[in-house]
Amino acid sequence: MNQSYITQEHEIFRRSLRRFLEKEAVPCFEEWETAGRIPRLFWKKMGEQGYICPWADEEYGGINADYAYSVIIAEELDRVGTGLGSIGLHSDTVMPYIDSYGSAEQKQRWLPGAVSGELISAIAMTEPGAGSDLQAIKTTAVRDGEHYIVNGAKTFISNGIQADLVVVVCKTDTKAGHKGISLLVVEDGTPGFTKGKQLKKVGQHSSDTAELLFQDARVPIGNLLGEEGKGFYYLMEKLQQERIQLAICMLASCERMLELTVDYVKQRQVFGQPLAKFQHTQFKLAELSTEIKIGRTFVDQLIVSHMEKKNVVQEASMAKWWITDLAKKVASECMQLHGGYGYMEEYEIARRLRDVQVGSIYAGTNEIMKVIIAKNMGL
Ligand SMILES: Cc1cc2nc3c(=O)[nH]c(=O)nc-3n(C[C@H](O)[C@H](O)[C@H](O)COP(=O)(O)OP(=O)(O)OC[C@H]3O[C@@H](n4cnc5c(N)ncnc54)[C@H](O)[C@@H]3O)c2cc1C
Repeated sequence: MNQSYITQEHEIFRRSLRRFLEKEAVPCFEEWETAGRIPRLFWKKMGEQGYICPWADEEYGGINADYAYSVIIAEELDRVGTGLGSIGLHSDTVMPYIDSYGSAEQKQRWLPGAVSGELISAIAMTEPGAGSDLQAIKTTAVRDGEHYIVNGAKTFISNGIQADLVVVVCKTDTKAGHKGISLLVVEDGTPGFTKGKQLKKVGQHSSDTAELLFQDARVPIGNLLGEEGKGFYYLMEKLQQERIQLAICMLASCERMLELTVDYVKQRQVFGQPLAKFQHTQFKLAELSTEIKIGRTFVDQLIVSHMEKKNVVQEASMAKWWITDLAKKVASECMQLHGGYGYMEEYEIARRLRDVQVGSIYAGTNEIMKVIIAKNMGL
């Protein structure tokens, strides 16, 4: 890799994180997949080492780290398994909402626990009847004195079961379209807020995904994030980083799948010679390697632009759809090169193939990414 934004300090950080994950995550990963979640103890260990929300201010326990540290964390977590991405979601998607739009009191209340790994967060946009069309959400929050009364249902929420805090997208004004959308922080234990069932997924088994239900849930008005009616704008701003994060994770997965397959074809003997000696194998891997390199070049440039705070809506949408589609292609081609072994659960490529499928669906589907790109092209 030739990542221009990575300094020697970043590399030292990467090496220690990789060592930490090899010791603390790799041996347990299968167990976590079976359990359907990552144990809280691991979150705390990550927090103790400074691997969660490193960007947070020192007064909240962070190290004021630049975005390159978040990139490294995302890549290294994905190297172990895509299911660990739920920690990245907490660290670089959900908690930045609190950091950017929260009041001083809210930051003081929630950031220290989020950084130490004691508090797990989630973001709840999607509803049974509204995914891509965010403006069609039906969850309402009606002011009643010092509380909002929240009613509605959310689904497919990552970290849903374990979450101590959920940023809930709701309508504070049902007549104002996207200008009626607000973000409310709902804490576990809030009367009227319950967690539904943990959903069984095709892949990413170690990350918990759940339904959330709100029946006259009483949320203190002090839990409103930013201003009423600004939620849609906050989402549009923060979704860019979520899409970049996903491209980073899926690219790391592509690199890992290629590495696994190159090793495999070198040792697998067929017709008296290593599989790697067949021109078909060489051409396939040469093609995948080229596409991954093109993806790496694009994503690295995107990271630099994002760190320079440029408007990256177009490029983030492009990276999101192209890299997540590439990951599906790489998984499928690499499984084919593994023959029957690739279809066996004990081979990592089998799990990788399952895990990458959702990349084209969440964080805005790939079709929605193309809608955004086309719109920005004036079409
Ligand atoms: C494992 C997992 C984790 C998730 N985690 C979260 C989470 O933490 N928080 C959260 O809020 N959500 C989460 N989601 C939900 C995810 O963001 C939605 O599933 C996604 O936005 C799509 O919404 P939908 O499922 O309702 O599909 P729909 O919106 O019903 O889309 C169905 C199909 O129609 C296509 N389509 C829709 N509109 C258009 C259009 N205008 N033009 C062309 N095609 C279109 C879509 O691309 C898709 O192919 C998660 C989903 C999964 C599977």
